[in-house]
Amino acid sequence: MQNTALSLTLPIVMVVKATALQQIMEPLFLEMGVEVWMKRDDLTHPLISGNKWRKLKYNLIAAREEGQHLLLSFGGIYSNHIHALAAAGKLFGFNTIGIIRGEPADERTDTLRFAEAQGMQLHFLDRSGYRLKHEPDFSEQLRDRFGDFYLVPEGGTNLAALRGCVEMVEEIEIPYDCLCVASGTGGTLAGIVSGLKGKQQITGFSSLKGEDTLTEKVAGLVKEFTRGNLSKWEVCFDYHFGGYAKVNEALIGFIKKFTIEQNIPLEPVYTGKMMFGLYDRIKKGYYPRGSRIIAIHTGGLQGLCGYKKYFG
Ligand SMILES: *Cc1c(COP(=O)(O)O)cnc(C)c1O
Repeated sequence: MQNTALSLTLPIVMVVKATALQQIMEPLFLEMGVEVWMKRDDLTHPLISGNKWRKLKYNLIAAREEGQHLLLSFGGIYSNHIHALAAAGKLFGFNTIGIIRGEPADERTDTLRFAEAQGMQLHFLDRSGYRLKHEPDFSEQLRDRFGDFYLVPEGGTNLAALRGCVEMVEEIEIPYDCLCVASGTGGTLAGIVSGLKGKQQITGFSSLKGEDTLTEKVAGLVKEFTRGNLSKWEVCFDYHFGGYAKVNEALIGFIKKFTIEQNIPLEPVYTGKMMFGLYDRIKKGYYPRGSRIIAIHTGGLQGLCGYKKYFG
């Protein structure tokens, strides 16, 4: 776990400029009379990608203000969050610990190899141990073992994360009617909902089943963050393809075609499902003619390493 003296002084706010908006050209959109633009948050930073950067930013600032030198978080073996946290730690001079759901003996994924190369210390927990991570004495045990640290929750979702996601939508300078984003824990969606006070319709395309809890969770986060908000939003559960990280041929085919035709890569866990859902809704005439839709590319392309057999 080495960090250079240079990175210790790098101000956290200065690394990422506003990301670009790019119009997606597609005969279908002309036919249906809608416009689709993509906010390229996959281009935030080469190593700290998309919404994971947005969610980390104010956590990093808080950790630095608290004088913490160690960041600890949780994730799976392909986690975009763990990848981003490891890179951010290296860049900004924090030590990092990743508590990983899995067995230490398992072969390292590209994600975990990258995290270790950035200096992240990995500790493995089996499924049953991992499930206990929300118990109060679990974090006590971690502090006994590792000393004091700044805890970033799994997936990076907390109120500080919402603040970074608000900035993502504040960067959009054109008027629009609808905004789409992929949702996992719902933190990014909650940040967007909190940041927009206009008439736009916001849709979170859920990448997991969790119908019973996600909508409630987003509503709770928004309420805590804004204490009352007027934007219209929904979570769409029609395009999770069977659940988290589940795929089928139609999804893989769509992603390949989109990547080639638009020259914008997608991955199958989040952004691929969102864009599939958006195209399907447009096909079905869901959006009134004249609608301008913005889809947020939340990044996560490093996670493609888990799908080598589909994408080579
Ligand atoms: C983590 C992630 C999401 C989901 O974000 P939440 O804030 O957990 O809803 C969406 N897209 C990508 C690429 C991600 O890595």
